[in-house]
Amino acid sequence: MSDILWIRRDLRIHDNPALVSAIENGVSIAVFISTPQKWHQHHLAPIKADFIFRHLKQLEAELADLGITLLHLKATDFDDQAKQLTELYQQLGSQVVFANSEPEVDEQARDQQLISSGINLQISDCDVMLPLGSVLNQQGEMFKVFTPFKNAWLKEVQAKGIQCSPAALTSKNNAKALLPDNLQTLQLASDYDFDFPRVDSSRWPLSQDVLGNVIPNFLANKVNDYAHLRDIPSVKGTSGLSPYLAIGAVSPRWLAIQLIQQQPDLLFDTQLPAFSWLNELIWRDFYKHLMFHHPKLVKGANFQQKYNGLDWYKDHPSFKAWCEGKTGYPLVDAAMRQLVETGWMHNRLRMVVASFLTKHLLIDWRWGERFFMEHLIDGDFSANNGGWQWASSTGCDAQPYFRIFNPITQSEKFDPKGIFIRKYIPELKNIPDKHVHFPHGYIAKNGINSEYWQPIVEHKEARLRALAFFK
Ligand SMILES: Cc1cc2nc3c(=O)[nH]c(=O)nc-3n(C[C@H](O)[C@H](O)[C@H](O)COP(=O)(O)OP(=O)(O)OC[C@H]3O[C@@H](n4cnc5c(N)ncnc54)[C@H](O)[C@@H]3O)c2cc1C
Repeated sequence: MSDILWIRRDLRIHDNPALVSAIENGVSIAVFISTPQKWHQHHLAPIKADFIFRHLKQLEAELADLGITLLHLKATDFDDQAKQLTELYQQLGSQVVFANSEPEVDEQARDQQLISSGINLQISDCDVMLPLGSVLNQQGEMFKVFTPFKNAWLKEVQAKGIQCSPAALTSKNNAKALLPDNLQTLQLASDYDFDFPRVDSSRWPLSQDVLGNVIPNFLANKVNDYAHLRDIPSVKGTSGLSPYLAIGAVSPRWLAIQLIQQQPDLLFDTQLPAFSWLNELIWRDFYKHLMFHHPKLVKGANFQQKYNGLDWYKDHPSFKAWCEGKTGYPLVDAAMRQLVETGWMHNRLRMVVASFLTKHLLIDWRWGERFFMEHLIDGDFSANNGGWQWASSTGCDAQPYFRIFNPITQSEKFDPKGIFIRKYIPELKNIPDKHVHFPHGYIAKNGINSEYWQPIVEHKEARLRALAFFK
């Protein structure tokens, strides 16, 4: 007989409350149940699937050191996942399943179905710094914009701190788990065969390395420069932790605690340079809390319903040009090529390309949201949805719809020498810095035989068109 630890979006040993409870209760079996069909429906990127796969292998070894055997079961969708968990529960004679929360709609429905069918599912929370639902305005409601949320968040943390699970775990199991014979049918395949396409993610080291080296180095040497480097895509000025946070390989609470222990004044002085980084982690919490309070977001709803009537253009050729990095705006094109080639995109560029798609091309933010999910190693529903709705003005931007990024001035400001642009658009390698942001006039004037694309829209016209569209 063994109870079960159900591994979901929490591929880590540190700050994992379900794992702590499992160990306290002598659990010797953990399970991960992959759902390739659901992953297709949720547009999981093949590079993210590979990243999950690699972290599962790491976790398997880490759990083995704690006396816990990690099984992998293969299901199709969430119904099948629930069915397989139930079978395992019965075969092991379990009394409890320990898991960490997945707050999205379908995931919640699956968990409720399991509880109603008699499974004793004990859920903990560890994907946000402050518990979902705990940061509210004076009327007891969720904030609609970021800044007051951040202020309330800070007040709460100043008063109560951030709670993390105990770090040191010692197993009560000395023996390897004994699996019933009839479990063979459920056990998967040695090599975590997901039945899902995978793209090599090895450019991103495993979280063990990140926890031991990358994060201490970032906090000791880089976090104070973050504020002035974070917007320059040719420089590695950000932490690069989003893929780890997205699969739960690094805990946001643990990260925030590390930072605050090093710089306790941050909580009281938001002008300190490192606060900008904490601020981004708070944005992450903000979007997760928002999704918790507004589950309709998961189903593609506009946050601001007044925009429900927008008649977005179904302009497939322009969408294709945007996806392929062929809009004729170098910063947009370089960014889209970065996404497709590496599975990641710099935050400044995510804002620029999202604004371009929704404001210059008037294409539905949901098309862009989906394309991002299909390619991002850090695809995270709430941050992606929040970012897209912010950029398209249907979401939580405190500024109204007339925030329209100019892709040329953004390029001049954040990539002045065109270093980032030339990295991804070799067609522009011989264009002088001054002209690289919009090279068409220079190319024509000098009779250069260039393979770079003509712009698919003219900026000023597109801007006026967007203003009229939103009005
Ligand atoms: C249109 C759009 C789509 C986005 N899609 C995603 C997504 O799918 N997954 C994702 O993790 N982030 C998304 N972001 C937010 C942000 O771009 C990335 O989190 C960031 O680029 C990751 O790089 P980093 O880890 O070096 O971040 P850092 O700048 O070092 O920030 C630290 C952490 O804070 C969080 N964070 C930073 N900026 C934001 C933000 N604006 N919103 C929410 N959380 C933030 C991330 O978890 C990040 O790892 C999106 C932003 C936009 C504008």
